[in-house]
Amino acid sequence: MDCIFCKIVNREIDSQVIYENEQVLAFEDVNPQAPTHILVIPKKHIENIHEMTADEQQELLPEIFQTIQQIAEEKDLGKGYRVVNNCKENGGQTVNHLHFHLLGGRFMQWPPG
Ligand code: 5GP
Repeated sequence: MDCIFCKIVNREIDSQVIYENEQVLAFEDVNPQAPTHILVIPKKHIENIHEMTADEQQELLPEIFQTIQQIAEEKDLGKGYRVVNNCKENGGQTVNHLHFHLLGGRFMQWPPG
């Protein structure tokens, strides 16, 4: 499968890995939009949040959100941060492997474009 994030999981493409366990990988976004910009993904290839089965949601979403909390602590984001999931074309998704952006270190504007 020709998926950039699967290649990052398999170490076929380099990335700055922040954290990993059996199910989840967190790594620096190559084009950061904030002082902290980390992507948290399931290692399993799931196209987007809409395609997740109920079982996958139960198994993976707690892991993903615990990872986000843990990284936010480590990165000293006590003033707050933003978690973003872009789903499919109109949601602005450009890489079709489920991922959550963790953005922090500056004030985040609202609404997004
Ligand atoms: P999306 O637009 O799908 O929500 O976000 C995809 C994100 O993946 C973008 O922020 C983009 O900068 C990041 N990205 C794309 N290709 C690579 C890559 O090869 N390595 C890393 N670390 N990030 C990538």
